[in-house]
Parts: sequence; structure tokens; C-alpha cells
Amino acid sequence: MNAPYVHPKIGPRAAAFLAREHKLLIDGKWVPARSGKTFDTFDPGTGRVIAKVAEGDAVDVDFAVQAARRAFEGRAWRMMTPNERGKLIWRLADLLEQNAEELGVLEALNNGKPFATARDRDVPGCADLFRYMAGWATKITGETLGISTPGQFHAFTVREPVGVVGQIIPWNGPLAMATWKLAPALATGCTVVLKPAEQTPLTALRMGELIQEAGIPDGVVNIVTGFGATAGAAIAAHPDIDKVGFTGSSEVGRIIVHAAAGNLKKVSLELGGKSPVIVFPDADMSVAIPGATQAIFANSGQVCTAGSRLFAHKKVFDRMIDGIAQQASQIRVGHGLTDGSQMGPVISQTQMERVMGYVDQGRAAGATVTAGGNRIGQEGYFVAPTILTDTKPEMSVVKEEIFGPVLCAMSFDDDDLERIAKQANDSIYGLAGSIWTQNISIAHKMAQRIRAGRIGINTHGNVDAALPTGGFKQSGWGREKGHEGLHLYTEVKSVIVSL
Ligand code: NAP
Ligand code: MG
Repeated sequence: MNAPYVHPKIGPRAAAFLAREHKLLIDGKWVPARSGKTFDTFDPGTGRVIAKVAEGDAVDVDFAVQAARRAFEGRAWRMMTPNERGKLIWRLADLLEQNAEELGVLEALNNGKPFATARDRDVPGCADLFRYMAGWATKITGETLGISTPGQFHAFTVREPVGVVGQIIPWNGPLAMATWKLAPALATGCTVVLKPAEQTPLTALRMGELIQEAGIPDGVVNIVTGFGATAGAAIAAHPDIDKVGFTGSSEVGRIIVHAAAGNLKKVSLELGGKSPVIVFPDADMSVAIPGATQAIFANSGQVCTAGSRLFAHKKVFDRMIDGIAQQASQIRVGHGLTDGSQMGPVISQTQMERVMGYVDQGRAAGATVTAGGNRIGQEGYFVAPTILTDTKPEMSVVKEEIFGPVLCAMSFDDDDLERIAKQANDSIYGLAGSIWTQNISIAHKMAQRIRAGRIGINTHGNVDAALPTGGFKQSGWGREKGHEGLHLYTEVKSVIVSL
């Protein structure tokens, strides 16, 4: 067997982590998959194998669920006071920050994103969300209710943890996605079986070590690395899982819903998007151009809320396209661990081929490739920031989520907000959108008319811990983060006392 490749920029701590065996975390112990199988994990910046990871399947998921069930029913977690639970979550946030350098390296290496983004934005963002949710642990309350039934009653509600939750996450922000799932589950007192994406298991496993170091009791968080069709499917179908939280493609979202029907487990879904960026003629171009550029090219376009459909008024369309193309040409595309990289590769050969396939479909359907449209280099999976113009609503590039650095640009020549909104809303998705104008009235009127879970006005991407995120239409069920995010992990119980 060839030893996994070690990138020259890896520091000693990330190197030490990579050199360890990457097992499953079940009941506070690191164990191999029962089958003994492992799978390779890659550096998308080179295409090389960087580690072998335990390939958990239905058998391991079952052990993990049993551990999570024991931890849920046991005293250590359930009887812990909310402030103690909050402190443990806060301690995990501290540990993430203390290990930001190492986590940043591992994230850059396994996901491809620039190291500086991972260390300076993603890790602090995760720490922030854990702290935000740590604060909620002591503030999960019910209501007292006025009762009209004849007689004397005292009635109230309590919010209890939903129980054992299965969490299935994608590869586009491995640490962030694990955090969006774990933080509210821990704050509410649930226990978890987490399956990271097959492409990006490493930082979730490192987080598992930090979860132990923080003192979160054994069995509260179990991590089963493996494939969707086996480990993921076993989580979705497991009869003793009370709720499944999923982020990923709409196709798999549908599969999860079907699988969950067996025991009617609760389901929350964060699925795809095709979010509009709507630019009015009075928009401040010095804000709208970089905003629209970031909206599509951040994280190589592998963001569920990416601003992938640009609608710019005819009067400013050319300026927007020239400006975005100009900024795109200056983005330094490179390996996540190369100093100064601003945009990394896409996650895999498959994803690169998928993205390039969409560009070809767009071309064939009559779109013009105004910028990019090509792979960069022969090593790793780098795709140039791409702008397609002359795109039409019926083209696949406009309708489907590409999940890569490809912007579809369209213009409007209309002052009727209803018609503009109709165009922007012409999608099966409804995850996010942004509106660029200096007219406060237009901004609010459009915000009302866009059917999406998050609207930016003169801003597009924002992942603040307090902001709920999630989808209208086929973009999903439920909202993550913010106070709303807690509701995914609690059940309401009414208690009525006859006095
Ligand atoms: P995906 O298959 O939906 O992956 C998401 C997660 O679901 C992964 O952990 C995956 O495991 C798991 N999974 C797959 N099949 C499953 C099943 N039958 N039962 C339970 N879990 C299952 O997404 P992908 O294949 O990585 O990416 C394909 C496309 O999905 C992308 O091009 C993009 O359009 C979209 N996507 C969207 C988001 C988003 O945030 N909205 C994120 C990722 C991808 P594996 O890792 O083994 O597949
Ligand atoms: Mg997949």
C-alpha cells in the first residue's frame, strides 16, 4: 500500500492528526468499522489520497444509535443542568479556536478552501455558533396557558429534546455544516449520530476529539464516517432515531423523506438553491459588483445560498458584467494551502465534470461564455470563475443548481416589481436572494415579493449565528441557526393540572 501523500505546507499538528488512524466515534471510543473496511479521502487540490478513514455502514450506525439512545436515557446528559450543558458547549467553542490553525489546515486540505478562510472565518464562525447555542441552553422555555375549560386548571408547555437525532451533512463546509447541526442539538439536550460527507470526513473527526476533550459525555455525539447509500441510508431509516437533519442535494433529500416514513421520524432539510441577485439601475455599483462577485464565487460557488442567477437592469447590465468579469479575473485560484489563494478547487473530479458539463450544456443551448468556462491546470479540480450571458429561463444552467463557480446573467428592462419578482421567483428553489438598490421602498417591496428564506439588501451572504437559514419551496423544511434552529430539536409538551 502506498503511504498517503503529505502536503509540504502541513504543520506538525495536522500531520500528527493525519498520521493517526481515522476511526468511528461510538460511545466515547474510537473504533474501526465492524466490517474492517476503510476508504480513501482526498486532497481536491492535488487529487491525491491524504488519509484512510473507517467505512461505517448500517451495523456501525446501529451501534452508534444504541450508544446515543443510552446517552439520551442516561442521567449524565439528561440530568445535567442547562448551565452545565451550556458551559460544555462553550468549552468546545474555546477548543475550536485554540485549534484553529490545525483545523484550518485540515479543512483546506480535505475540502480545498483557502486556509485563511478556513482558519479566520469558518473556525471562528463555528465557535460563534456554538457559543450562541450555548447561551440558549438556559433559555429553552415553555409558556403558561390560559384555560377556558370549566373548572380550575394550571396549564403550561415545556420544550423537551426530541431525542436521538441523525445528522447527515455535505462537503461544502465540513466544519460549519457539522456545527450547524451539532450546536442546537447539544443545546437542547439531544444526542447525535453524525455522518460527515464521504469527501470530507477529517475535520468532523478532529471535532469529535475536541468534543471529548470538552467533557461532553460519552455517547452524546457519535460520528460514523462512510457513504450515503449505506451509512446515510441506515440513519435515515433507523427505527430508533427520532429525528433526522439533512443538508445536501434535493434528490437525496427526497430519499431521506421516504426512508424517514418508516418510523415517521421528524425531518429537517436544507437543500439546494438557485438564488437571485437582483440589481436595480440606482444600485451603488461599487457595492453591487463586489457583492455579486462574492455571492457566486465564494467557496468556488459550492454554497447552497450562492447568488447563481444575476438579474440586472438593462441600464446597468453591461457595467455589472464587466465589473464582475474584471473582479473574477483577479481572483487568485489555487491550492488551499498556497499562500494568498482566494479560491480553491471544487470538491472532486465528479463535481468538476458536473460543473463543466453544465457549462457545455449552456453553450450548446446558446449561452455565451463571457468569462472562464474552463478547467485550470491538470492537477486538482480547479474551475475558472465563469460567467454565462445570453441565458434563458428554460436552460438547465438557469434552472438547476450547478454548485460551482458559474454565474448565469440575465437582464430586465422593466419597472414593474411584480414582473421582476416573477422572473426571480421562477425556480423550484427558494433558499436566498439579494436586492441591490438605494431606494428603500423598492428594497422592501422586493424583499416581500421574493419567495426565499433569506433576503439580503445590498448584501448577499451572511452566516451570522442569529440569522435563521432555510428554504421556501423545494429548498427544504425548517430553519437552522438562530432561535428558530432550536425548534428543530425540541418537542412541545402540554401539561395540564386540575386544581
Ligand atoms: P448528496 O449526495 O446530497 O450528499 C449529502 C449527504 O447525504 C452526504 O453525507 C451523502 O453521503 C449523504 N447521502 C447520499 N445518499 C444518501 C442516502 N441515500 N441516504 C442518506 N444519506 C445519503 O450531495 P453530493 O452528491 O455530495 O452532491 C451532489 C449535488 O448536491 C451537488 O452538486 C449540489 O448540487 C448538491 N449539494 C447541495 C448542498 C447544499 O448545501 N444545498 C450540499 C452538497 C451538495 P455521501 O457523502 O456518501 O454522498
Ligand atoms: Mg453524494
